[in-house]
Amino acid sequence: MNSLRIEKHGTGILLRYGNTKLAFDTGATGFLTLLSHSHADHIGQLQKASHLVATRGTLDTLEARGKSVSCKSTIIRNGETLGKIGYYITALNAGHVLGSSMFRIEFDDGLSVLYTGDFNTVDSIVHRRARAIEADVLITEATYGTPQWVFPERRGVHRDIVGKAKEIIESDKIPVFRAYSLGKAQEAIALLHHSGITTVSGNKAIDAVSSVYKSHGCDFNFIPSESLSHPKDLPDQIAVVSSSPKHTRAALIRGSKRNDENARPPEMREYNLSGWTLLEYKNRGFPLSAHSDFPHLLRFAKAVNPRVVYCFTGNARILARHLDKGGINAVPLE
Ligand SMILES: [Zn+2]
Repeated sequence: MNSLRIEKHGTGILLRYGNTKLAFDTGATGFLTLLSHSHADHIGQLQKASHLVATRGTLDTLEARGKSVSCKSTIIRNGETLGKIGYYITALNAGHVLGSSMFRIEFDDGLSVLYTGDFNTVDSIVHRRARAIEADVLITEATYGTPQWVFPERRGVHRDIVGKAKEIIESDKIPVFRAYSLGKAQEAIALLHHSGITTVSGNKAIDAVSSVYKSHGCDFNFIPSESLSHPKDLPDQIAVVSSSPKHTRAALIRGSKRNDENARPPEMREYNLSGWTLLEYKNRGFPLSAHSDFPHLLRFAKAVNPRVVYCFTGNARILARHLDKGGINAVPLE
């Protein structure tokens, strides 16, 4: 009988089972790499990968963020299954960012393993939610894996963001929503755009990733970041979504001084869009998250109905303890 070995490795996880060697979210010599999405904390050591499996969305966003894959790559669609010698790989929508996948591996002897990557079980404006599927072994992220992380209903968070944007615009200032350039920024742009607010990208990283979203059929419009330093190109009332408010501020200052050296740059009001704002930056943002909160992590694990759960990321130990308490055998990967 084969034994299953799962261990942490850099930004990802290595799995060995019989002759099968899989590397989730990391490159590793002699392993097949399965890439769940292209956030920086999931793409370590890709130069060591000799063969990589990912969705088109993951490869396109990776490229938009200035990274290239030099090894052989196989494109898989979410919902699709690839047959390999001794096992099958199925990619499943993770609901986290464009093209993000969970991977379910089914070995010929019947053992099944589900790796979540980062995942979100709540619909956002631009991503459909992840759905649980049964597996014998679950390898799950635990980013918000402690009981205090219970996110409010998403539509309410959206309403609050739009309300704040309108309030700041009314006072002749520019609301700047700080968000990760991949995923959260596009949700914010879509939200503001569909609420009738002219939305400007705050920096080049957001320009590039948002263009990829549009090329994949996402319905939103935005003004590219270069317009910030050319105020004549901009309407009077705008909101900005930025992953680098420092660059946004510099561009606005350049723009205001273009015709008049003594001109005052427009005033910005900055807000974080992040799950962490729920507790850690309470007065400076809105808890818009691309991850599952604590109750959803528990619910998801229960629905997978695994014999064992491996938890990774910061709160792995605490989530494992809570899963164990709830009757699900769980171990943190540290
Ligand atoms: Zn991520």
